[in-house]
Amino acid sequence: MSKTSVRHSDTDRLLEASGVKPTPMRKLVYEILLAGNSAMSLYKIEQQFDNVERSTIYRALKVFQENSLVHTVYDGTGAVRYALCNEGCECSLEDQHVHFLCNHCGQSYCLRSLPVPKPELPEGFDFEGAHFVVTGICPNCK
Ligand SMILES: [Zn+2]
Ligand SMILES: [Zn+2]
Ligand SMILES: [Zn+2]
Repeated sequence: MSKTSVRHSDTDRLLEASGVKPTPMRKLVYEILLAGNSAMSLYKIEQQFDNVERSTIYRALKVFQENSLVHTVYDGTGAVRYALCNEGCECSLEDQHVHFLCNHCGQSYCLRSLPVPKPELPEGFDFEGAHFVVTGICPNCK
């Protein structure tokens, strides 16, 4: 078995474990996010393909999102970005983490070890989630 097919069967396994049928398109989108190593906008993912409709990519991302394979990152730059979840993520409140936007390269990173701090809300407000973004300079830009 070649190295490539080992990697592909790994993606198959990950998608299937989350209840997602591993179509070729979904596998490609997943592997692009995996290789990207930071949160990616739809536009940036689209750029990795030669000729694929943006809506096709979007649909794959939606399926991933519904099955807790990816989460969205709102980093204040205007474009929603997508990042892979950890294996076994349920995208519950406890699974949410802080994101880091680099002011130099513009990349957004998942700081998975930093849970989103829960604010003390005034009486009558129920917490359902927060988009917590820290900005600064990433290790690659130092
Ligand atoms: Zn998640
Ligand atoms: Zn940077
Ligand atoms: Zn994240």
